[in-house]
Amino acid sequence: MMEIQITCTQCGSGVEVLPDHNAHKIECNICQQVMNVNFSQDQEQGILKECPVCTRQDFYKQKDFNRKIGVILFVIAAILSIWTYGLSLVILYLLDLFLFKKLALVAICYKCKTNFRRVKNIDEIRDFDHEMNDRIVYADHDFKGKPLSH
Ligand SMILES: [Zn+2]
Ligand SMILES: [Zn+2]
Repeated sequence: MMEIQITCTQCGSGVEVLPDHNAHKIECNICQQVMNVNFSQDQEQGILKECPVCTRQDFYKQKDFNRKIGVILFVIAAILSIWTYGLSLVILYLLDLFLFKKLALVAICYKCKTNFRRVKNIDEIRDFDHEMNDRIVYADHDFKGKPLSH
């Protein structure tokens, strides 16, 4: 089933939920802020068309990878490379190529930063676009799921 992580509008913590069309309110377990949600049958099937929190249709996808761990691994590999003549960096590169390529992708709502994991139609969701992000976040533009066109 699709896993959804809503960013609390008040304290910014992640609130984990599973799509359920009977659920209309989600409470943050840190600050008790209540947020309205609207899940569709689509989302129960793992198909992401519309954000259950802000009802927008603009999402981007990225590797579901903890950047902190990546930085730590790189630092370790860089330090080890002094003794391994750079071999550890090669190993890290190969690790990245084979291991992290297989990592799941996460879809993220531009508007409210809700994260969606195990999205069945992840192939339909495009990569992050800076211009779209700026226009949605700062100008409140609604692309309605359409790609940016010039
Ligand atoms: Zn909260
Ligand atoms: Zn949203």
